[in-house]
Amino acid sequence: ATEHGYTPLTIDTAIQYAKGQSYFTQNEEVYGEEIGDGNLNLVFRLTGQDGQRLIIKQALPYAKVIGDSWPLTLDRARIESEVLTIYGTYVPELVPKVLHTDSVQALTVMEDLSHLQIARKALKKGDHFPVLGEAIGRYTAHTLFFTSDFGMNQQDKKQLQKRFCNPDLCKITEELFFTDPFYDVESNSIDEGLQAYVKEHIWNDQTLLFAVAKAKYQFLTKAEALLHGDLHTGSIFADETQTKVIDPEFAFFGPVGFDIGSFLGNLAIAHISQAGYATADDDRQTAKQSLQQQMMSVWKTFEDEYATLWQNHNVEPHASIPGWSEKHIEAIWKDAVRFAGCELIRRTIGLALVEDFESIADKDRKLAAKTAALRVGKHLLLSTNIHTSEAFVKAVVS
Ligand code: ADP
Ligand code: MG
Ligand code: MG
Ligand code: MG
Repeated sequence: ATEHGYTPLTIDTAIQYAKGQSYFTQNEEVYGEEIGDGNLNLVFRLTGQDGQRLIIKQALPYAKVIGDSWPLTLDRARIESEVLTIYGTYVPELVPKVLHTDSVQALTVMEDLSHLQIARKALKKGDHFPVLGEAIGRYTAHTLFFTSDFGMNQQDKKQLQKRFCNPDLCKITEELFFTDPFYDVESNSIDEGLQAYVKEHIWNDQTLLFAVAKAKYQFLTKAEALLHGDLHTGSIFADETQTKVIDPEFAFFGPVGFDIGSFLGNLAIAHISQAGYATADDDRQTAKQSLQQQMMSVWKTFEDEYATLWQNHNVEPHASIPGWSEKHIEAIWKDAVRFAGCELIRRTIGLALVEDFESIADKDRKLAAKTAALRVGKHLLLSTNIHTSEAFVKAVVS
């Protein structure tokens, strides 16, 4: 135990902990496994005698980064659990239920979602999720509107911001999303066949770097709403009819377009990577068409729902000035497109790579997919013509 009483759990102590909280009886035979795939947190799944299951997610006080360790405040466990609870009041059907929070042990006990699939893994297999885009559109519209100066008391928002000051995790995004991939630094990991392309078309493109600098400045300064902060397809459980968003430990007050752009960027990655998995039996056209639909429906749903919330729930006296809501939503879209561009690039050459590309077995196909991702990412950052979700899809497909 540390001086503060925090101790990382093992499978045995996780079971003891859950029994102590009366989730299981003392004599019950409980089966436990550690199923975390990250390097920041432990995730235990516990199953009782009658099949009752729950998840304990515990934060570790450091991140394992290329052999080194990067200290990270345990306070992010509180942030994650509070955000799950707050978001649960707006979109209860789209988040896991929080059962218990322990700020000393930096853990959250929550509903087990193992009956669903992590979207990233399933999309890689060619599965498609007809309601995914719509669900994330609704999720972002509601959580972001109601934590903005339009959807909540503006003095209360300032108080709320104090609870979601998240400098350690913001630093990760500032460096790994917006900075490192755009310079020749050690933390990047670049396939051999991609190095010349990256040097010429990313690192030496001053126009691109300028666009990235502006996008990063939006992220640093635009405290519009309480973001999820890490809304990629690995943070989403889904099946045919359900969607649940987990893992909001990066939450802070930032630009609304960031969550939407992160998600769109990951759908684009899933789309571009399909070519790496096409076979004679499955050319992946169906999967690609579905992804195109999801890219459009996330924005269309967001736009619709956000405009409706604006009309019915806006607390800002200026809200009904003609044109203001349209102008504001247009600015969110522009931000989202640029953030999506950064996401494509950083997931291709940065520190946090994605299995969408990494598990493509054929070297040439992997390289082709990654080159396409860099090209599309650049285009999203530089183009001034991507005004609609149709234009976004066109940029990804081309
Ligand atoms: P990290 O912040 O370390 O990325 P996540 O919250 O994304 O942690 O969880 C890591 C993995 O643990 C997920 O990909 C998933 O496989 C599993 N997991 C997390 N939460 C749940 C849950 N509520 N139900 C089932 N599995 C979960
Ligand atoms: Mg993970
Ligand atoms: Mg995660
Ligand atoms: Mg996480």
